[in-house]
Amino acid sequence: MRLKGKHALITGGDQGIGRGIALRFAQEGADVAIGFLSNDDHAKSAVEEMRSHGVNAAALQIDVSNIGALAKFYADATRALGPLDVLVNNAGIEKRDEFLKSTEDDFDSVIAVNLKGPYFLSQLFARDLAEAKRPGKIINISSVHEELPFPNFASYCAAKGGLKMLCRNLAIELAPYGITVNNIAPGAIKTPINDKLLHDPSKLKPLLEHIPLKRMGTTDDVAGCAAFLASSDADYITGTTLVVDGGLLFNYHEQ
Ligand code: NAP
Repeated sequence: MRLKGKHALITGGDQGIGRGIALRFAQEGADVAIGFLSNDDHAKSAVEEMRSHGVNAAALQIDVSNIGALAKFYADATRALGPLDVLVNNAGIEKRDEFLKSTEDDFDSVIAVNLKGPYFLSQLFARDLAEAKRPGKIINISSVHEELPFPNFASYCAAKGGLKMLCRNLAIELAPYGITVNNIAPGAIKTPINDKLLHDPSKLKPLLEHIPLKRMGTTDDVAGCAAFLASSDADYITGTTLVVDGGLLFNYHEQ
């Protein structure tokens, strides 16, 4: 029970990676509030599953790209759980966005969910903790695409690359307050975001061949890493990215 007594807020916690992290945190004893965009049923079932581990759990609707709504979301989470110790910026969208055809709306929506939302939610969290003189941990779910180009997904890569530098920068700015900031960069994880890929053998086969561990990751693979970063075992880790990708990122071959 590495997270007993901790209070965590996780965006995009009703499905996929966020849900995996929420359930793992609950198993480790944390009280957890999840944010979700639209999927009430998933959110309710995640809360029930978390509560079955004997912890306090809540689900709150939020569009993280709506910056004006974040303060109420944050306040509601603290009302539901008490003062927060851990923030996981997980909510994200991936939009195919061929550069020559890309519009301002396409760009803005990807940046707003993947980068601007995490920026301002982290600010609310850090202001709250700094004022109360409490230490805490920010964990951003970025992607191997904070490093690796992904043709036709330039806005997604720009957002995840931005999260990389946001993490590096905030780690320094927030260190005096005892707040650590780290990213997790998943590779290819089996979640609804990859539905098309999972059902297209012509794309899946070459991808699996390129992953040294020869399988896609699971939400559990990412959740274990998040639980570690949220725990006191990671107290001396800040400003870095832990890559959870089966070796994909650095698998370069000379032909
Ligand atoms: P997913 O299954 O599609 O889940 C996305 C989650 O984000 C859902 O809970 C969704 O809520 C929420 N969400 C979407 N737009 C939102 C918004 N505007 N405001 C608030 N919440 C919003 O995706 P996933 O694969 O678990 O991805 C989670 C994170 O991991 C993302 O940041 C993604 O970029 C990153 N990642 C994923 C992979 C992968 O292979 N799966 C790889 C690298 C990085 P609703 O369900 O209510 O719509």
